[in-house]
Amino acid sequence: MTSEQSKKGYIFIVSGPSGVGKTVLCNYIVDKYKPQVVYSISTTSREPRGGEKDGQEYNFCTASEFEEAIKKDAFAEWACVHGNYYGTPRKFLMDNINEGRHVVLNIDVQGGMKIHKEYPEAIMIFILPPSFEELEHRIRGRNMDSEESLKKRMINARKEIDCSKEYKYCLINDDLEKAKADLEKIFLSYI
Ligand code: ADP
Ligand code: 5GP
Repeated sequence: MTSEQSKKGYIFIVSGPSGVGKTVLCNYIVDKYKPQVVYSISTTSREPRGGEKDGQEYNFCTASEFEEAIKKDAFAEWACVHGNYYGTPRKFLMDNINEGRHVVLNIDVQGGMKIHKEYPEAIMIFILPPSFEELEHRIRGRNMDSEESLKKRMINARKEIDCSKEYKYCLINDDLEKAKADLEKIFLSYI
């Protein structure tokens, strides 16, 4: 690695089916290692769920605003997931890695592959559920998705898991404390 590269922060891509626990796990790492590790807040055209605030979980916008932002090349990657647009703001990502902070991207497999193609040094981590039954149980337990949204998420879960072979690390989030420790071990081997 050159000294120029060593000054830059790493990009950590965390993917996995909806409801598997990506947000809980990413928050654990970011809270513990901030300000050296930061969370990339994505932009989305999906409606906020109960309790979600603009600029906190996501930057919320309309589909046409999102399309305008695509034209302006505002996203390092973007994808249509479960029928809505989601994108990683390019400026936040570049500013942070250029300033030596590590950035965590909680994004789907399409986005993960796009970032990895552009930034082959990005660290790819996939979170697996212990079973599909448990995954459905977690999505229901979160109590934030309609029955239709739940069905879409369960269908997409199988497709996402098929792509896990493209990821360098695969963790099973069964016992949450163990999954946190496993993820932390991966982070600590880089940061
Ligand atoms: P994602 O970001 O992958 O969609 P979340 O982080 O929102 O998933 O987690 C979905 C739900 O599952 C949340 O209610 C969360 O508290 C719960 N959860 C996460 N990990 C576990 C675990 N290991 N065991 C039981 N429940 C979990
Ligand atoms: P949710 O609607 O449950 O918050 O997220 C749905 C899916 O969108 C998850 O798989 C999540 O990782 C993914 N996602 C969130 N932000 C982005 C993003 O900026 N880009 C891409 N490609 N996927 C994202």
